[in-house]
Amino acid sequence: MAEYIAPIKDMQFVLKHVVGLDQVNTLPGHEEMTEDVVDAILEEAGKLATEVLSPLNATGDRNPSKWKDGAVTTPPGFKDAYWQYVNAGWGNILSPTKFGGQGLPHLMATPVEEMWGSANLAFKLCPMLTQGAIEAIEYVGPEALRAKFLPNMISGKWTGTMNLTEPQAGSDLSLVRTKATPQADGTFRLKGQKIFITYGEHDYTENIIHLVLARIDGAPEGVKGISLFVVPKFNVKADGSIGDRNDVKCVSIEHKLGIHASPTAVMAYGEKDGAVGYLVGEANRGLEYMFIMMNAARLSVGLEGVAVAERAYQRALGWSRERLQGRPAGGGAKTAPIVQHPDVKRMLLTMKSITEASRALAYWTSAILDRAREHPDEDERKRSQAMVDFLIPIVKGWSTENGIDVASLGVQVHGGMGFIEETGAAQHLRDARITTIYEGTTGIQANDLVGRKIGREQGVTALAILAEVDKVAAELGASSDANLKDIGSGLAAAAARSKEAVQWIAKSFGTNPAAVAAGSVYVLKLLGITLGGWMLGRSALIATKQLAAGQGDAAFLKGKVLTARFYADHILAQAPSLSAAAIKGGDSVLAVEEAYL
Ligand SMILES: Cc1cc2nc3c(=O)[nH]c(=O)nc-3n(C[C@H](O)[C@H](O)[C@H](O)COP(=O)(O)OP(=O)(O)OC[C@H]3O[C@@H](n4cnc5c(N)ncnc54)[C@H](O)[C@@H]3O)c2cc1C
Repeated sequence: MAEYIAPIKDMQFVLKHVVGLDQVNTLPGHEEMTEDVVDAILEEAGKLATEVLSPLNATGDRNPSKWKDGAVTTPPGFKDAYWQYVNAGWGNILSPTKFGGQGLPHLMATPVEEMWGSANLAFKLCPMLTQGAIEAIEYVGPEALRAKFLPNMISGKWTGTMNLTEPQAGSDLSLVRTKATPQADGTFRLKGQKIFITYGEHDYTENIIHLVLARIDGAPEGVKGISLFVVPKFNVKADGSIGDRNDVKCVSIEHKLGIHASPTAVMAYGEKDGAVGYLVGEANRGLEYMFIMMNAARLSVGLEGVAVAERAYQRALGWSRERLQGRPAGGGAKTAPIVQHPDVKRMLLTMKSITEASRALAYWTSAILDRAREHPDEDERKRSQAMVDFLIPIVKGWSTENGIDVASLGVQVHGGMGFIEETGAAQHLRDARITTIYEGTTGIQANDLVGRKIGREQGVTALAILAEVDKVAAELGASSDANLKDIGSGLAAAAARSKEAVQWIAKSFGTNPAAVAAGSVYVLKLLGITLGGWMLGRSALIATKQLAAGQGDAAFLKGKVLTARFYADHILAQAPSLSAAAIKGGDSVLAVEEAYL
């Protein structure tokens, strides 16, 4: 089965030219992010992805993690791969230097993370969740907790988890019931059940540090009464060594549609005296803290959509060049590789163009996340924060929906063999399916987008970004190049439809929020394809200039321009129907009473 090869050329093009390294290497502490450093990091990460993680992807699918008497054994090779990953220094690239991390910007970590997701999505989840737990402890503290847990988590010696979900509390975390009782020594004792906890138990490391949402005795109902705790699997002694077993255990793991290697655990807290937990930050502010970390976590999951799409595309392209069937339409006497059939080419170009559009938008967003967190100027930090807040639900929702669509097309390109597990195409579709669900479903992202990010501020940030899209559309439209002109007119039309939808939300959100909610996923997709088109429009302009100057790889650059043109004609062309469904479609949803369903 073909191994994943990191799309380094496209990653370099997006980082260096579409986003621009100066977005980030002008920030204090990131001056070292030069072109050479970026190239070296991408190349090294690409090797680990291809040689170590990719060969284990199918192994993990066929040999799911196993539970026995509270312990979980991961598939053959996974533990060894984890330690290769950690020993090569990949586990701590984003973490602060103060605790032994490398302190790289998100923009640099993003393509690297994409590679792990493409090579082996089930593997990638453990480091991703550890990073989320590290960020929570790092941001909110207190110092004693940071000193106790961060060095070993950052070194990869211990991993982390996020324990939010309970049977009755999924999308709606205000329903969390796990209890935390204060103790005289300042610690808490936790009792309750958490479900669906990714890598809640495994055999990679000697300790697992759980971040847990729970209610302190007597806390108010709803979102304002939830606090955040650190609960280690093994208590940690004052000298940092491992102590006795804490009162937390994995009671089972789930049998799932995909990501089979990743254990999804049911966790029981406090079956005896209560699990020892340490409060992170202040009491009753747990959900607020989760929101601080949510942008990075949702960006990571959005990137999983890009990652699986890339892998599915590579597999489908390889297959289409080898499978011989039929004669090409309009000529040729011989049976040809299916890549020559126009409809197969259409499928491949759909896969390629939306993958590249989602990649560029995700990388762009990660640079803005860096600026929002680290720019020395407060106004720039605020402006970037507003942009990133607006972009995150789009990157999360749109890219993961794309991941499923692309993986599904990948199966189609394989024909009957796509339905047979042997080719690997089906695994991508099964694995991609979770990405639109965890870390907030597409419906929850769309609610966030039309509510907090558009409705509440009357579309100010959305319209400001769409004005930037208009500028690129105008530059494309003013060109004498027929391809660029075509891309420009497609982009201008999609931007107009997006503005129409944003203005309708600004007008209707206060008076008819149910109609806005009914069309919210269409708005998310409309903005996704428009902003993706913005990125590909910029790519086409840059590629055309480089071609004219005789720079770069001509086939790659021509491919960039023509992929953008395909995207304009096939994907941006969907904008009017999405806008119409968003604006008019709500009424027909609301007209149907529950009894008619
Ligand atoms: C494999 C896997 C791994 C996971 N890993 C973790 C983890 O590590 N830690 C953790 O805490 N959780 C984890 N989860 C849980 C995951 O985050 C939740 O499953 C997810 O948030 C959805 O919650 P739910 O399953 O309760 O669905 P529900 O909330 O019941 O949603 C069901 C449907 O209703 C829709 N819906 C719900 N509310 C609204 C609303 N207000 N507006 C519009 N539509 C709505 C949803 O979009 C969805 O389509 C994981 C889940 C899985 C399956």
